[in-house]
Amino acid sequence: MFVSENLGVNEKGHLTVGGIDTVELAAQYGTPLYVMDEQMVRKNLRRFHESMQKYYNGRGYVHYASKAFCCKEICRIVASEGDGLDAVSIGELYTAVSADFPMEKVGFHGNNKTDEELRYALENGVGHIIVDNLPELRRLEALAEKMGKTPHIMFRIKPGIDAHTHKAVLTGQIDSKFGFALETGEAFEAVKEAVACKFVKLVGLHCHIGSQIFDIDPFEAAAGVMLDFIAKIKNELGYEVKGLNLGGGFGIKYLNEHDPAPFEEYLRRVSAVVEKKCAELGIAQPEMYIEPGRSIAAPAGITLYTVGARKEIPGIRTYISVDGGMPDNPRYILYQSEYEAVVANKAGEERTEKVTIAGKCCESGDLIGENMPLQHADSGDILAVLATGAYNYSMSSNYNRIPKPAVVFINNGESRVAVKRETPEDIIRNDV
Ligand SMILES: *Cc1c(COP(=O)(O)O)cnc(C)c1O
Repeated sequence: MFVSENLGVNEKGHLTVGGIDTVELAAQYGTPLYVMDEQMVRKNLRRFHESMQKYYNGRGYVHYASKAFCCKEICRIVASEGDGLDAVSIGELYTAVSADFPMEKVGFHGNNKTDEELRYALENGVGHIIVDNLPELRRLEALAEKMGKTPHIMFRIKPGIDAHTHKAVLTGQIDSKFGFALETGEAFEAVKEAVACKFVKLVGLHCHIGSQIFDIDPFEAAAGVMLDFIAKIKNELGYEVKGLNLGGGFGIKYLNEHDPAPFEEYLRRVSAVVEKKCAELGIAQPEMYIEPGRSIAAPAGITLYTVGARKEIPGIRTYISVDGGMPDNPRYILYQSEYEAVVANKAGEERTEKVTIAGKCCESGDLIGENMPLQHADSGDILAVLATGAYNYSMSSNYNRIPKPAVVFINNGESRVAVKRETPEDIIRNDV
């Protein structure tokens, strides 16, 4: 009935998440509120790592892309599942360290890592540094020598694959700020230089072709291109690249009409391509890494708001204003992303109108969505926006100096605060 399988309606006609009444959550913790279902996060992680066991003989690793949703609690959950983590900044690394995450299972990404970040990664024994460009390789080599470290690196490669997704989240093509291009020979020259490095050790190649991708074909194509490159490195340089990291980008269901391929199916088909291609090329099967972010976190989260004003503009549209908006969910203003919404206290009723859900910021573009089918919403109702677990909290801001909502985790019928609600005092914390 709803986009995520952990949602339902109880005998009061209220929306439930993981069996818990969302109207009660709103009353207990206030709104706006992010709610994350721990069991769903675990289930999504397991779908990936169990498929790795099944289809790739367990020679694969799942690294949750923490930029989708990062706080100490999710790091602890990922660690307890035995999976790894991707981090893209000192803040994400620091969060993982603070949660006692096993840092050898962390991959550190970014197209412009600072010296401070690289030093922090080396000090804390990060498992892989995914190097994006030559200046970074040289800085890292010098830093590693100075610090007496021998970091393992992967190279970020642009495989030149069209992933059929929104251009703001498309990353594998030649006109991209990320990584080394294959077509121009840039990547090969960089590999030669890395192979000659004394301190850094090149152990893998990485690509990430985009996000919210529904088809499996682009992933298969990317794996093929990357394996060709691994074979070229072996044949021409006599160097064996042991790891192949295929990034994330697996699509999820935001609307009922969305039909992403099941996660298991990605791994089944991509593993088959890797096995076949390695045999053809006469290279050893690499260790495989994947970095799902959205597909782990998005379906596990919802956002709860309280409805304020209702404005009917005859012949034009009806605005339903909520007590959040672009500061807690900037995805509509950034990408016109679509969501399913439900009036949580009327979840058993038909959706009888189409409305525009507006936030409370001083921007006309501050919307959660337009033309959204919804039950008749009035002031004081609780509105739930679904599948907001990824790229909502992690992209949230304090625009208009609005304090950020709390994050509550639910698990087996219990709820707990994982990130406290910000207060006005937090807003001025760093003001002098
Ligand atoms: C964003 C990103 C991911 C995760 O992408 P999703 O679409 O959230 O799965 C994985 N790897 C890298 C390098 C990324 O930049």
